[in-house]
Order: sequence, then structure tokens, then C-alpha cells
Amino acid sequence: MNGLRRAILFDRDGVLNRRIVGGYVLRPDDFEWLPGARAALAHAHGAGLICAVVTNQACIGRGLVSADGVRAIHDRMLAEAAVAGGRIDGVFVCPHRPEDGCGCRKPRPGLLHEAARTLRLDLSASVLIGDSPTDIEAAAAAGVRAIRVGPPPPDGVELAAAAWAPDAAAAVAAFLR
Ligand SMILES: [Mg+2]
Ligand SMILES: [Zn+2]
Repeated sequence: MNGLRRAILFDRDGVLNRRIVGGYVLRPDDFEWLPGARAALAHAHGAGLICAVVTNQACIGRGLVSADGVRAIHDRMLAEAAVAGGRIDGVFVCPHRPEDGCGCRKPRPGLLHEAARTLRLDLSASVLIGDSPTDIEAAAAAGVRAIRVGPPPPDGVELAAAAWAPDAAAAVAAFLR
């Protein structure tokens, strides 16, 4: 035992809530849970895993919403997860724009490392669930397994992702199996 904890790191948009194509979640009312996402959080928490959210929100750096505005969205997300029996132990946000060249915007691994430091996580025993290639790349760079969710990969295309599941609930179930 190294005293570090296993975790499930959830990307936010497209994993927990419906992704707004060509736009952003700018207000709490824009946050629409995907089917099964809250159950996935409850399942993971019930199994004793730490749950964290790691999310790129360039809308902050672009001035479309303040950091406090995003915090308000996440306060509601946490409360609604708790009502469903889940617990989100930490939310880690990259507020930067791609052109800022920060180390935390996925596909860079900085956000995952920040989560690991803050929550004392064993990344090698953890998993990231994401819907974008950049999630999978960030996971690989941080040495954490990844499960991609969303539409199934096209036939014959070899993805870098170790695994695929249709949604967060199936991904959590597969990781805990
Ligand atoms: Mg996403
Ligand atoms: Zn950043």
C-alpha cells in the first residue's frame, strides 16, 4: 500500500452532461445530465473510489463566463450528484485558451497531475473516462488507463484508447467488473 487512492476521473462535457456542439455550458441551466451519468457517479462512490472531474473550459479564458460562473455550475453539479448518491471529490478546470500554451489543457496531462496531487491518487490504479481523443491522449501522458465513451469506433479503426463503452455508466461498470 502506498497510501494513494484509486479514482475515476471524469471528463465533463460529453461524459457527465450533454455536450453543446459549437458552444459552452455558461449557466447552471445549460448543464443537462446525460442518461446514467449520475448513476455512474453513485456506482463509483459506492465502490469506494474517489471521483473527480477534469475539464477544459476555454470559455473562461475567452471571457464568455467568469471562473465564479463556472463554479456556480459545478456547485449545482455536485449537489445533484449527491442527491443521486454520488460524490464528486474534486473538480479541476483548465480555464485557458488553446493559444495560451498552458500545461493543464488536455491533451496535456497537467490537470490529471493536479487532481492526483490534490486528492492523493494512484493514477496507475485509476481510470479516465472521456469522449474526446484529447482525453485519451492526456490519460496516456499521465499514465492512467482510459475508457472512451460515445459512438462506437468505426470498424477497422484502431484507436489508442484501451477501451470503449457507450456511456459513463457502462464505463464505470466495466472498470469495476
Ligand atoms: Mg468531453
Ligand atoms: Zn490550462
